[in-house]
Amino acid sequence: MQAPTGVADARLMGLPSRQVAGASTTRRLFVIYAVVSLVPVLLLGTVLLALTHRQATQRGLAEGASEARLAARASVAPDLRDQPVTRDLLPSEERALDRTVAQAAHNGVMLRVRVRDLTGKVVYSPEHLGIGSFDEDAATAARGSTVTRLTWLNFDAVDAGAHIALGPRVVEAYTPILSAQSSRPIGVLEVYLPYAPIQRDIASGQQMLAVALMVGLLVLWIALLGVSASLSRRLRRQADANAYLARHDTLTGRPNRAQFTECAERAVAAATQPRPAAIAVIDLDRFKEINDTLGHANGDRLLVALAERLSGCVRDEDTLARLGGDEFGVVLSGVHGPSEAVEVLSRIRAALTDPFVIDDLPLTVEASVGFALAPQDGADIGTLLTRADLAMYVAKRQHHGVVHYQPEHDQYDATTLTLIAELGHAIRDDQLVLHFQPKVDVRSGRVKAVEALVRWQHPVRGLLYPGAFLPAAEQTELVEPLTRWVLRTAVRTLPAIDPTGELGVAVNISARSLARATFADEVIEVVADSGVSPERVILEVTETALLSDPPRAAATLTALSEAGFRISIDDFGAGQTSLGYLAKLPVSELKIDKAFVLAMAGDARNAAIVRSVIELGHSLGFTVTAEGVETPDVLAGLVAADCDLLQGYLLGRPSDAEAVVGLLNLELRSLLSRADVS
Ligand code: C2E
Ligand code: CA
Ligand code: CA
Repeated sequence: MQAPTGVADARLMGLPSRQVAGASTTRRLFVIYAVVSLVPVLLLGTVLLALTHRQATQRGLAEGASEARLAARASVAPDLRDQPVTRDLLPSEERALDRTVAQAAHNGVMLRVRVRDLTGKVVYSPEHLGIGSFDEDAATAARGSTVTRLTWLNFDAVDAGAHIALGPRVVEAYTPILSAQSSRPIGVLEVYLPYAPIQRDIASGQQMLAVALMVGLLVLWIALLGVSASLSRRLRRQADANAYLARHDTLTGRPNRAQFTECAERAVAAATQPRPAAIAVIDLDRFKEINDTLGHANGDRLLVALAERLSGCVRDEDTLARLGGDEFGVVLSGVHGPSEAVEVLSRIRAALTDPFVIDDLPLTVEASVGFALAPQDGADIGTLLTRADLAMYVAKRQHHGVVHYQPEHDQYDATTLTLIAELGHAIRDDQLVLHFQPKVDVRSGRVKAVEALVRWQHPVRGLLYPGAFLPAAEQTELVEPLTRWVLRTAVRTLPAIDPTGELGVAVNISARSLARATFADEVIEVVADSGVSPERVILEVTETALLSDPPRAAATLTALSEAGFRISIDDFGAGQTSLGYLAKLPVSELKIDKAFVLAMAGDARNAAIVRSVIELGHSLGFTVTAEGVETPDVLAGLVAADCDLLQGYLLGRPSDAEAVVGLLNLELRSLLSRADVS
């Protein structure tokens, strides 16, 4: 999916503050890197400088040595006889040496001169200093090599053995004086040469080298910095882009699911009962059709335009995110209860009614919105999102626009929805089973009818009771084939249970069927096909089913009653049907809701309610049945209250067709006597 450029640019400009903070951290790291990398560069420079300095000194000493050798050969050797020198120099030799020394001193070439014999002892000194004193280096020189060292010239101090650094820097050299004929040493010349001129020579070269070295290192360091600066800039941009992509939808540039979750978590943490946060899910209706007919590229363009329009409808503190596909999420923080959430979300939904023009084609989009409130409907994002999803699903099914989650919606949870998806096959593949529960006539003590109760023998989950799949199925068309199956199976099974042809069978009818105009005809046909007379069939209808579409329900019931069927009002007392309304319907039986009957056991007031319902039912001409009879006490109470029919575990649990036959010979009297005894 290619992001349209406008969106891409806009989103790269407004980087969130967290990323800006990240950039300043990288800058600080870079400065640290610059300083740290300077240290090894400086260290390298220092070592290189020290090395070149040492080399320069060695060169200076070598130069001093060659000057000393030259002086010994050219100036001193000619002043001496061609034989090893001793302390007994000839006066002519001393004079010649004096002259040479004076000349050299005058020219500044040699600062101090002494001649030593081959044992290293001084035999000549122009100042007559240290005659006869020994020096190890001189002895080494007497063997043919020149010894040099860098020192300071301080005649007195040096001779006195004191190491006070005074006087100019000099090269102290010991070099053999060679015989002109044999080239063998005849003595040793000890000479002190001024170091300054040598150093000047070397220093200029060395300085140039040092400057070149420093400049080179500096250039190296700057180049290193440049490379790492550009590298870290590129990495930073990459990291910013990655951080951006991790939190945004690539197509619309809106926050993605990850960022949505973060925002939702913050809003939920700050939410209170009076100022809750709303977590909403928006799902487009029939977007798949648009995608399929106009192509994915146009579908994408529609999503981008849509996201832009929707984001204009939320406040700055709210979040509009794309959760994926055609699903968007909204976090509204601090709303004033569900009505404000409905208002804002309806406004968002209404914003879609203006057509979007894609490829010159005006497209209208509708959306279903579900939301849940924190903390009322859930404390964690997972729960809230699931519940908002359920509410959205309800909105979609019932074309309600915006729906606030209600606990009843839980029947749409994932497992139930999978079950519902499988139910169609289950009906066709005969996975449904009917159980029958006896309804016992108090006066005759005999089973008068059986109620057919559906179960689902699920291949994986085992036997399922209606609570697991019926409430959800009742929201779908599937309940219609289910009711048809139950009715057909019940009337077909009835002769096998009771060949005498006296037993009635009760079948439960859903609200949806009741509201369908053709339902009555269908029932009449199915029962006629079975050969069972309609008088034996009791249709149980709940109060709530009657109330969902009263005129239609009344029409259906009238048609069925005219065909001979008996109508029973199931779960009576649970709803708010007025007895006046019931009196106008062709009803023949009231079944008191088992909640009241079960509660009779421990609560006198409930017993009173049950008694007065029985009385009222009788006064309107209805047969009254009590279901949920579990204990002998309750049974006795109902008998005393003149209840007509009883149904409950005490009298017989719902059982399959075969087993229920054994329950038909039930002796109510023995149960009654048990009740009397207790
Ligand atoms: P209902 O019509 O009120 O059915 C009576 C329910 O009470 C049955 O539950 C039955 O097993 C239970 N019951 C019977 N005696 C006692 C008792 O002594 N104590 C207690 N605690 N419960 C007792 P079941 O079979 O789970 O059915 C639940 C509901 O499912 C039924 O309530 C009915 O509304 C619906 N239903 C069952 N079969 C069908 C059907 O074929 N079609 C339609 N539309 N609804 C059905
Ligand atoms: Ca029933
Ligand atoms: Ca009932």
